Amino acid sequence: MPRTYKCAFCGGEIKPGTGMLYVRNDGVLLWFCSRKCRRSSLELKRDPRKIRWTEYYGKEEKGKG
Ligand SMILES: [Zn+2]
Repeated sequence: MPRTYKCAFCGGEIKPGTGMLYVRNDGVLLWFCSRKCRRSSLELKRDPRKIRWTEYYGKEEKGKG
């Protein structure tokens, strides 16, 4: 089975050969399924929990704050 990744922003599945990889300055690898997700996360610094089309919408981080 080829490895699949989850989009770091929307949580959607990224099929092999698609999506784009971004390496953060601290060495963390981030996969994005589309330019929209990449831009939303890296440039616009959006919170996926507040964006309706992500898998994380409406989910609060538990145990923090
Ligand atoms: Zn995505």
